[in-house]
Amino acid sequence: MAVTYESIKVCKQSGARLGRVHTPHGVIDTPVFMPVGTQATVKAMTPEELKEIEAKIILSNTYHLYLRPGHKLIEKAGGLHKFMNWDRAILTDSGGFQVFSLGDLRKITEEGVEFRSHLDGSKHFISPEKAIEIQNSLGSDIMMVFDECVPYPAEHSYVKNSLERTTRWAKRCKDAHRKPDQQALFGIIQGGMYKDLREQSAKEIIELDFPGYAVGGLSVGEPKSLMYEVLDYTTPWMPADKPRYLMGVGTPDCLIEGVIRGIDMFDCVLPTRIARNGTAMTSVGKVVIKNAQYVEDFLPLDPNCQCYTCKNYSRAYLRHLYKAQEILSARLVTYHNLYFLIDVMKQVREAIKKDRLLDFRKEFFQKYGYEQ
Ligand SMILES: [Zn+2]
Repeated sequence: MAVTYESIKVCKQSGARLGRVHTPHGVIDTPVFMPVGTQATVKAMTPEELKEIEAKIILSNTYHLYLRPGHKLIEKAGGLHKFMNWDRAILTDSGGFQVFSLGDLRKITEEGVEFRSHLDGSKHFISPEKAIEIQNSLGSDIMMVFDECVPYPAEHSYVKNSLERTTRWAKRCKDAHRKPDQQALFGIIQGGMYKDLREQSAKEIIELDFPGYAVGGLSVGEPKSLMYEVLDYTTPWMPADKPRYLMGVGTPDCLIEGVIRGIDMFDCVLPTRIARNGTAMTSVGKVVIKNAQYVEDFLPLDPNCQCYTCKNYSRAYLRHLYKAQEILSARLVTYHNLYFLIDVMKQVREAIKKDRLLDFRKEFFQKYGYEQ
């Protein structure tokens, strides 16, 4: 098997899992946050910088790479790792999420999804088999099945039909996978916000026996309390000896709450996206660097942070760069945000080791300013 999960311990206080995911491109300590590199680049970061901040795995997007520059070109270049000069692990999504987000630009049938490119309006068709073909060409360590991520809110009958098709598509994805010894294909549990449907989806997907499982269809606009409730009854269905991935979640509180509910892997564009808009996540909460209060603030972005940005630059300077629309603004704040989240996960792993993750949550939330 290309990817395996090694369990190290379970936190006696919270039930959270400490483990390692073994991949063809290195070992990942879990729980882990995975930075997103949509277009075969984590925006504003070089691979060397990602290594400096100890990123062990990044995510890339099948839909975007299929449209531009094309998966065949990336295969010709020697695969995605070589193409983007990243020799650590890569996870690719299936393109499903982007395709379904296109709204009027797409048409769903049992066979797959027909859609128009957001770039030039050209017509395309992605089926489960096509999503696997693209990911096989990209050569990612972890690939995802082609699924439908249903919107929130959605009717019970719609979600049921959709999850049953997602199961049929997951089976087709598995059958189409050409390199199971080199690339692991993860299944995705859907079922919206309905307990019976999450149970149905979990049973059907786990029955297909994938080397890892994701919880999809969360963080789509529902209140956080509802997301936690869905996780509460979904993760107990998931096998303990396989990695568990919560898709599209990346605020510090959601990461910690997800870990407490048994999740090992997370990804989100949030830390990099808000960085480019001049917002930092810090140990004492959000800092919106463009705000006037930082004009003469010569403290680091986060005085408790050891990252390159915080060791060398002041809030006043970062504010100036942002206001002057300098490229370095995006680079420095992105660097900090990713360092910060990767460091939070390091602290989470330490807390699991010491059986004190609930205490850690309390301390962290107090400092960050989250309601408890
Ligand atoms: Zn920092």
